[in-house]
Amino acid sequence: MADLKLTGVEKAYGEVKVLSGIDLEITTGELVVFVGPSGCGKSTLLRMIAGLERITGGTFEIDGRRMNDVPPAQRGIAMVFQSYALYPHMTVRDNMGFALKIAGRPRAEIDAAIARAARILQLEPLLDRLPKALSGGQRQRVAIGRAIVRDPKVYLFDEPLSNLDAALRVATRIEIAQLKEQMPDSTMVYVTHDQVEAMTLADRIVVLAGGGIAQVGPPLELYERPRNEFVAGFIGSPAMNIAPGKVVETGARTTVALAQGGRAVSLVPSLPGDLGRAVNIGVRPEDLAPRPEAEEATFEGRVEITEALGEVTLLYLAREVSGPQVVAKLPGIHPGLRHQTLRLGADPAKVHLFADGQSLLYR
Ligand code: ADP
Ligand code: MG
Repeated sequence: MADLKLTGVEKAYGEVKVLSGIDLEITTGELVVFVGPSGCGKSTLLRMIAGLERITGGTFEIDGRRMNDVPPAQRGIAMVFQSYALYPHMTVRDNMGFALKIAGRPRAEIDAAIARAARILQLEPLLDRLPKALSGGQRQRVAIGRAIVRDPKVYLFDEPLSNLDAALRVATRIEIAQLKEQMPDSTMVYVTHDQVEAMTLADRIVVLAGGGIAQVGPPLELYERPRNEFVAGFIGSPAMNIAPGKVVETGARTTVALAQGGRAVSLVPSLPGDLGRAVNIGVRPEDLAPRPEAEEATFEGRVEITEALGEVTLLYLAREVSGPQVVAKLPGIHPGLRHQTLRLGADPAKVHLFADGQSLLYR
């Protein structure tokens, strides 16, 4: 069992506060992913959990026991880094067994632990090789194996797949998902800047931004019900279209006139006192579709660029005045849309409204 609890955790380097007010509980068996822009403090938070970085405020507990001053080796945690940090002169077997050997464990126990990890990660045929004779993906599996051998309660991963090429990244991602299935009693915290990794691996995602937590929740909850503009724009690719507008009708539904070319309807109960209110409207590219007949189109504009990806086509529409482009993602292949003027609409239930950066629909 390993339940993690952070209460009011903060990190300052001298005068500079990198993180503050971090409240988060992670329960045994969960895989929680930290995402956020570069430099937002993902690694710092992970390293504080590991004990590699001092916690300058707040409390971190494992199973109700305060860990702030417990040395890393006594936390029952193993960490896997982006750089595999294998010993180049040792075989895979010796790399994996090294920590237990240093700890003075009996040979039979070390061998059993290596055998178990090698089986889980399908490393058996590679045990006698040196790291230089392995591919990047195999090296990262050895690094994960080295963590498994120690049988920790908590696994921490800091961008473990970032050094791999695209195909290996997918394969290793699936291995990590399988690893999690095989170790249901372990708690895992995984840092990445890769959206697909976050969406596919996480039980819950923690979006970090501006020194705090922007939102925590299951991947699809963050996708469907972002509580603020930051999360709305960060989760999803291409990013959600966000454009300024103003409320022109309230009642059973809300209608927003866009500042540039278009109207949008949102199926929300009326927002009190909202007539004339400045809001930002958000629609995901995949929620837009051509609606030539629609009286109220969400966006209208000329298709400047198309990108045919096979399974989908991306359309980049210019709006009359400068201002951000609108991106639509249509399933399938659509030749001949370039230079056309299109009206695009969205299901009103898929329209997002924001004011002062916060969602008016989801709290
Ligand atoms: P991320 O992993 O999200 O990219 P980090 O956790 O590595 O971000 O860093 C968060 C912030 O803390 C960054 O602004 C970084 O410059 C700062 N930082 C990290 N380590 C130190 C340090 N030893 N001294 C001062 N600032 C640091
Ligand atoms: Mg980092």
